Amino acid sequence: MTKEELWRALLAQIQFNISQANFATWFRNTEIISQKEGELIVSVPNNFSKEWLTSKYHKLILKTLHGLDHEIKGVKYEVVHSNSKVKPFEPSQAEVDQLEFQQFKINKETNLNPRYTFENFIIGPFNELSHAATQAVCKNPGFTYNPLFIYGGVGLGKTHLLQAVGNEIVKNFPSKKVKYLSSEKFTSEVVNSIRNHDVEKLKSSNRSVDVLIIDDVQFIAGKEKTQEEFFHTFNALYEKNKQIILSSDRSPKAISALEERLCSRFEGGMITDISLPDFETRIAILKMKAQEKKIDVAPQVLEYIASNIKKNIRELEGALSQVVVYQNVNNCSLDLEKAKVLLKNIISSPYKKITPKKIIQNVAEFYDLKGADLFRLSRKKEIVRPRQIAMYLLREELKSSFPSIGRKFGGKDHTTAIYACKKISKEIENDNKFKEEFELIKQLIYR
Ligand code: ADP
Ligand code: MG
Repeated sequence: MTKEELWRALLAQIQFNISQANFATWFRNTEIISQKEGELIVSVPNNFSKEWLTSKYHKLILKTLHGLDHEIKGVKYEVVHSNSKVKPFEPSQAEVDQLEFQQFKINKETNLNPRYTFENFIIGPFNELSHAATQAVCKNPGFTYNPLFIYGGVGLGKTHLLQAVGNEIVKNFPSKKVKYLSSEKFTSEVVNSIRNHDVEKLKSSNRSVDVLIIDDVQFIAGKEKTQEEFFHTFNALYEKNKQIILSSDRSPKAISALEERLCSRFEGGMITDISLPDFETRIAILKMKAQEKKIDVAPQVLEYIASNIKKNIRELEGALSQVVVYQNVNNCSLDLEKAKVLLKNIISSPYKKITPKKIIQNVAEFYDLKGADLFRLSRKKEIVRPRQIAMYLLREELKSSFPSIGRKFGGKDHTTAIYACKKISKEIENDNKFKEEFELIKQLIYR
């Protein structure tokens, strides 16, 4: 048998022993380069493959080779960089290190994190409109959609998308000045500048940018000075055709303490939302993240994670990270049964922790009220509606009885609770805008 035949025979057998993905990843671009006195040298495309083959597949390789040729006693792996071959599918160890390192490379001028790009952003029906809007903005900042306002629930990719726009504009228009600020940062800059008597400096610094990105703008609502400063910055930039991009956890109209004039400014541009990713997208995201981390996760495990974590991409990543750590530490892959045990906390605990108090607090907070407000004997719409939503959630999420719900809310009759639940349930069915709002509240409760 020639060494080519020997290696081909080995590949043919290994193929049946490991998953197709692993096979493609680790055995592509390998071959025997020498065979001497029972010692084989196998060429591999990079250090990463070398380590992987040595630590994970060496026994299998040796056993298989020995089965094909009893003379074979040992195998060594050697990295051979060859331009003639197809570029290896896996990046080198150095590239992997760099990928991890990027997390710490936040640019001081722009506040952008290079980790957030469009290349690693998965598009699905839930975010495609927002994504398309950002693409248009990247092509022609300041002139297509201004401002661009993107809203959606926690952990659904708003920050990622906003930062990706920033990074893309910096790349395509190196002369443009981009600035990314969380609204907490914006607020603290305003507060500090007032304290240090250099408001003018802040004004000129914020107004000299070409692209201003403010994340989680709902947090500036209710903060008078900050809104005031923001309003003027907004106008100054807008008049000069500078791009403004904003994110929020809800639509401008739903930010209750937002000044009217700011709300109408926001509504003057393009507003898009990010809803919840469907199952296929969740799987796609998990697969991409697993590939980024250079780890092979059993498809059943990915499916288990994707079917149980539906509302938050950050949590999807969290679950995957646990699997990665487990597999690395134990040097074996995780099967479905073990995964269920490992992920028990992430997957089932939030549902246990929810309480009536949590429901009431979150609903009240969402509508800018205090928890106690919902118990007030008030017929004002601003109170009645949140109260009805809280009642509905008590019924749906905690299966509370109608009489007990009625009692909770200031000794109301059970018919009031029934009426509230029917009303809200109908609205969820018929009013898409409200349904989104409701989903967001639910997300806040389960976070
Ligand atoms: P938000 O700002 O809406 O709370 P983030 O942008 O912080 O959410 O996203 C949470 C995590 O999920 C981040 O690590 C981000 O990279 C990841 N993520 C969100 N959306 C996507 C997507 N469409 N594709 C890939 N990763 C995503
Ligand atoms: Mg965010």
